[in-house]
Amino acid sequence: MLSRKQTPIFADNQERDTYAWFSQRAWVEIDLGALSGNVKQLVKFLSPRTQLMAVVKADAYGHGSVVVAKIALEAGAVWLGVATVPEGIELREDGIKAPILILGATNTPEQIQAIAHWQLQPTLCSPKQALEFSNTLETINYNSSLPVHIKLDTGMSRLGTNWQQAAEFVQLVQGLPHLEIASIYSHLATADSPDATVMAEQHRRFEEAISTIGYANAQIKAKGIKIPSLHLANSAATLTDSRLHYDMVRVGLAMYGLYPATHLHNQIKLEPVLQLKARVTQVKTIAAGTGVSYGHHFIAPREMRLAVVGIGYADGVPRHLSNQMEVLIRGQRVPQIGAITMDQIMLDVSSIPDLQEGEIVTLLGKQGKEQISADDWANRLNTISWEILCGFKHRLPRVAVM
Ligand SMILES: *Cc1c(COP(=O)(O)O)cnc(C)c1O
Repeated sequence: MLSRKQTPIFADNQERDTYAWFSQRAWVEIDLGALSGNVKQLVKFLSPRTQLMAVVKADAYGHGSVVVAKIALEAGAVWLGVATVPEGIELREDGIKAPILILGATNTPEQIQAIAHWQLQPTLCSPKQALEFSNTLETINYNSSLPVHIKLDTGMSRLGTNWQQAAEFVQLVQGLPHLEIASIYSHLATADSPDATVMAEQHRRFEEAISTIGYANAQIKAKGIKIPSLHLANSAATLTDSRLHYDMVRVGLAMYGLYPATHLHNQIKLEPVLQLKARVTQVKTIAAGTGVSYGHHFIAPREMRLAVVGIGYADGVPRHLSNQMEVLIRGQRVPQIGAITMDQIMLDVSSIPDLQEGEIVTLLGKQGKEQISADDWANRLNTISWEILCGFKHRLPRVAVM
């Protein structure tokens, strides 16, 4: 029942408190219904010409990439996006057949061979990289064309060829053996900002680049070159402006039920997919004046009930939240006290005097009317919800619930 391998455990509601993770100290719960609902909402929000790519890099933002990919595809996503070759291989090894785009850079012969073998699709960012692909595919006698995706840098200053060299780059790749351009894309730097100025300039550059490539002109048409698809939008841009949707949108965060920015909350109804839970392992009474945890950064101002919970910073609860976070027990908010330790945290549970060992504590998620979201943590830590979601370690089993 308990294994070291962190493949998701499936459990229906009945099993919740008895079988599947009866003896887990802490776990990440993945709500497949919420995930499926979010994907369906997104698909409905898009026009029929726009496909949805489910971005499942970084183990699907900590949710578990195989299970998320399968549910997203069932719910209407067509493409999958990963960051690395091993992330793509993991999906293929689990029998997933959908097209997989590797969003990150790849260029070694080993990576190129793996991409060809596993039918993954690379992002091409420079002429040098395109030549490496073509040459390597030639040496392994690759007998068809590998679909590749041209990345343009329109202002993110991360991967990609400068948008002003788009036409040259595309021409070069079109002339290389074993490569076929499947799409041309770029990535936005400020799509989550309420100020759309930078995004509008990136959009303009993308349009300019596409027009200089000249897919509309007769010469290219006569060569019978297939016109690649175009894509630009992440979650924020998807929710902001349908003119940024093109043929596909690449959505990560919104699929996991979080909004990229507060001003985008009213676009569609999303539900957080991930909950973080742990169990009470000991309850005791401490006297007024008692210090709690390393450094005694909390001193009990009165006699209080204290609960120890089996989760800590080694599981991904940021230590910076010490003395600054609340958790949910029996639908009530309860403060965490003292330094967060590697494997355990302490709570002031004076408001629940009959709390029992073994009861479930929700660190992120919902109990009754109360909810604590990754955004609450992110705001307190001056970071973004993306980082919170990716921060849960593999010591925590992922438990998928329907
Ligand atoms: C991660 C990533 C996305 C998804 O971003 P979200 O903001 O999570 O939707 C889209 N495109 C690229 C290139 C990415 O790296």
